[in-house]
Amino acid sequence: MDCVFCKIANGEIPSKKVYEDDKILVFHDLDPQAPVHVLIIPKQHISSTWEITEENSGIIAYVFEKAPQLAKQLGLDGGFRLVNNCGNDGGQTVQHLHFHLLGGRFMAWPPG
Ligand code: 5GP
Ligand code: ZN
Repeated sequence: MDCVFCKIANGEIPSKKVYEDDKILVFHDLDPQAPVHVLIIPKQHISSTWEITEENSGIIAYVFEKAPQLAKQLGLDGGFRLVNNCGNDGGQTVQHLHFHLLGGRFMAWPPG
Protein backbone atom coordinates (compact mmCIF):
# COMPACT_ATOMS: atom_id res chain seq x y z
CA MET A 1 0.00 0.00 0.00
CA ASP A 2 1.23 3.45 -0.90
CA CYS A 3 0.75 5.05 2.52
CA VAL A 4 3.44 7.35 3.89
CA PHE A 5 2.58 6.65 7.54
CA CYS A 6 2.55 2.86 6.98
CA LYS A 7 6.02 3.33 5.47
CA ILE A 8 7.11 5.33 8.52
CA ALA A 9 5.61 2.65 10.80
CA ASN A 10 7.55 -0.14 9.06
CA GLY A 11 10.79 1.87 8.83
CA GLU A 12 10.80 2.31 5.02
CA ILE A 13 10.72 6.08 5.54
CA PRO A 14 12.82 7.44 8.42
CA SER A 15 11.29 9.56 11.19
CA LYS A 16 12.35 11.20 14.43
CA LYS A 17 10.79 8.71 16.82
CA VAL A 18 9.58 9.75 20.26
CA TYR A 19 7.85 6.54 21.35
CA GLU A 20 6.97 3.16 19.93
CA ASP A 21 5.19 0.04 21.10
CA ASP A 22 3.26 -2.77 19.43
CA LYS A 23 0.18 -0.58 18.81
CA ILE A 24 1.36 2.98 18.13
CA LEU A 25 4.25 5.05 16.86
CA VAL A 26 4.94 8.64 17.87
CA PHE A 27 7.27 10.84 15.83
CA HIS A 28 8.03 14.50 15.20
CA ASP A 29 5.98 16.22 12.50
CA LEU A 30 8.03 17.23 9.44
CA ASP A 31 6.48 20.72 9.49
CA PRO A 32 6.01 21.62 13.16
CA GLN A 33 3.25 24.12 14.00
CA ALA A 34 4.31 24.58 17.63
CA PRO A 35 7.52 24.19 19.68
CA VAL A 36 6.39 20.59 20.29
CA HIS A 37 4.48 18.89 17.47
CA VAL A 38 4.41 15.12 17.31
CA LEU A 39 2.12 12.71 15.50
CA ILE A 40 0.58 9.68 17.19
CA ILE A 41 -0.36 6.97 14.72
CA PRO A 42 -1.74 3.45 15.08
CA LYS A 43 0.58 0.91 13.43
CA GLN A 44 -2.52 -0.66 11.91
CA HIS A 45 -3.65 1.14 8.75
CA ILE A 46 -6.94 2.95 9.42
CA SER A 47 -7.61 5.64 6.80
CA SER A 48 -9.37 8.16 9.02
CA THR A 49 -11.81 8.65 11.86
CA TRP A 50 -14.57 7.81 9.36
CA GLU A 51 -13.34 4.20 9.56
CA ILE A 52 -13.60 3.88 13.36
CA THR A 53 -15.99 1.13 14.41
CA GLU A 54 -16.96 -0.81 17.51
CA GLU A 55 -14.28 -3.36 16.51
CA ASN A 56 -11.29 -1.00 16.18
CA SER A 57 -12.17 1.88 18.54
CA GLY A 58 -9.93 0.49 21.29
CA ILE A 59 -6.96 2.16 19.60
CA ILE A 60 -8.57 5.56 20.23
CA ALA A 61 -8.77 4.91 23.96
CA TYR A 62 -5.16 3.72 23.83
CA VAL A 63 -4.01 6.94 22.10
CA PHE A 64 -5.82 9.03 24.73
CA GLU A 65 -4.26 6.94 27.49
CA LYS A 66 -0.75 7.53 26.10
CA ALA A 67 -1.17 11.21 25.11
CA PRO A 68 -0.92 12.74 28.62
CA GLN A 69 2.08 10.51 29.42
CA LEU A 70 3.80 11.69 26.23
CA ALA A 71 2.85 15.31 26.95
CA LYS A 72 4.52 15.05 30.37
CA GLN A 73 7.64 13.47 28.87
CA LEU A 74 7.79 16.26 26.30
CA GLY A 75 7.57 18.90 29.03
CA LEU A 76 4.10 20.18 28.20
CA ASP A 77 3.17 20.88 31.80
CA GLY A 78 1.08 23.90 30.83
CA GLY A 79 -1.24 21.81 28.68
CA PHE A 80 -1.47 20.59 25.14
CA ARG A 81 -3.75 20.18 22.16
CA LEU A 82 -4.62 16.80 20.69
CA VAL A 83 -6.03 17.16 17.17
CA ASN A 84 -7.48 14.80 14.63
CA ASN A 85 -8.21 16.13 11.15
CA CYS A 86 -10.77 14.02 9.29
CA GLY A 87 -11.53 14.27 5.58
CA ASN A 88 -11.04 17.13 3.19
CA ASP A 89 -12.99 19.77 5.12
CA GLY A 90 -11.24 18.64 8.30
CA GLY A 91 -7.88 19.39 6.69
CA GLN A 92 -6.66 15.79 6.54
CA THR A 93 -3.76 15.45 4.10
CA VAL A 94 -2.39 12.00 5.03
CA GLN A 95 -4.92 9.18 4.72
CA HIS A 96 -3.73 7.19 7.73
CA LEU A 97 -5.37 7.98 11.08
CA HIS A 98 -3.22 10.23 13.22
CA PHE A 99 -3.41 12.62 16.14
CA HIS A 100 -1.36 15.79 16.37
CA LEU A 101 -0.02 16.41 19.88
CA LEU A 102 0.91 20.08 20.04
CA GLY A 103 2.23 22.29 22.81
CA GLY A 104 4.86 24.63 24.12
CA ARG A 105 2.86 27.75 23.29
CA PHE A 106 -0.67 29.06 23.84
CA MET A 107 -3.09 27.53 21.32
CA ALA A 108 -5.64 29.93 19.87
CA TRP A 109 -9.26 28.97 19.39
CA PRO A 110 -11.04 28.65 17.01
CA PRO A 111 -8.56 27.14 14.53
CA GLY A 112 -8.36 28.66 11.07
P1 5GP B 1 -2.98 16.15 8.46
O1 5GP B 1 -2.94 17.42 7.64
O2 5GP B 1 -3.31 14.97 7.60
O3 5GP B 1 -3.83 16.23 9.69
O4 5GP B 1 -1.53 15.96 9.02
C1 5GP B 1 -0.50 15.35 8.31
C2 5GP B 1 0.78 15.79 8.95
O5 5GP B 1 1.79 14.89 8.55
C3 5GP B 1 1.23 17.19 8.58
O6 5GP B 1 1.37 17.97 9.76
C4 5GP B 1 2.57 16.96 7.88
O7 5GP B 1 3.52 17.95 8.18
C5 5GP B 1 2.99 15.60 8.39
N1 5GP B 1 3.76 14.81 7.46
C6 5GP B 1 3.46 14.53 6.16
N2 5GP B 1 4.39 13.73 5.62
C7 5GP B 1 5.30 13.48 6.60
C8 5GP B 1 6.51 12.70 6.67
O8 5GP B 1 6.94 12.06 5.70
N3 5GP B 1 7.17 12.69 7.85
C9 5GP B 1 6.72 13.37 8.96
N4 5GP B 1 7.45 13.29 10.07
N5 5GP B 1 5.59 14.11 8.92
C10 5GP B 1 4.89 14.16 7.78
ZN1 ZN C 1 -1.24 3.61 6.38
